[in-house]
Amino acid sequence: MDFQPCIVNMYVMDAAQAWFVQGKKPEAVLNEHHRVGAHTDIYVFEPNDGAKRYIWSHSGRRPFGEPAPLQCVICKSIKSWGPPKVVRSSPAHALCIILMCTECGHEVKKDRPSGFTKFTSGKINTTERGDWYMQMLV
Ligand SMILES: [Zn+2]
Repeated sequence: MDFQPCIVNMYVMDAAQAWFVQGKKPEAVLNEHHRVGAHTDIYVFEPNDGAKRYIWSHSGRRPFGEPAPLQCVICKSIKSWGPPKVVRSSPAHALCIILMCTECGHEVKKDRPSGFTKFTSGKINTTERGDWYMQMLV
């Protein structure tokens, strides 16, 4: 993780406005803040609703919140991943993301961790906006 205070600040300002002015939960503005998800997960603690972790996922850059490897472990090529293959149970639910090295064909598979619920509505977003997932912690 590479925490970026200036990006997180924009999220916190929007989350505070959503909470105090509009009466919405802080996670209601996550869809507009994919950039913060590229750098950190978001944790929300509520007295009556438990603790939740929000994880940003991008199929090519950060499958299920875990950064894609910079280097292929077999041929040592840098950033050699082709377009990711998303194995889905439905248009909105990814089960597995597969990255394949364009130089040697080596595959890296990332299964969706158990307990990850897709928070972003609609189909899996393969654009730069990606998707948010939620994990209950307590
Ligand atoms: Zn390779």
